[in-house]
Amino acid sequence: MKATITKQCMGDRNCNKLCPEVFEYDEDQLLSIVKFNNIPNEYKALVRQAAAECGADAIEIIED
Ligand code: SF4
Repeated sequence: MKATITKQCMGDRNCNKLCPEVFEYDEDQLLSIVKFNNIPNEYKALVRQAAAECGADAIEIIED
């Protein structure tokens, strides 16, 4: 699974709070970033939840 964050991110950091192991806020770009190229199995469920909860619909997931 891969996850990317689009420029639609409004920076509320919900994904960062939900899964800080995967999502990080980039203070320079003013949007969240994904720390992994491929999401480790143990975080996949949280990443799907973060995408579903993202109010800006900014988290895009590509399943394997
Ligand atoms: S939950 Fe969505 S809008 Fe909020 S910081 Fe994460 S990607 Fe950005």
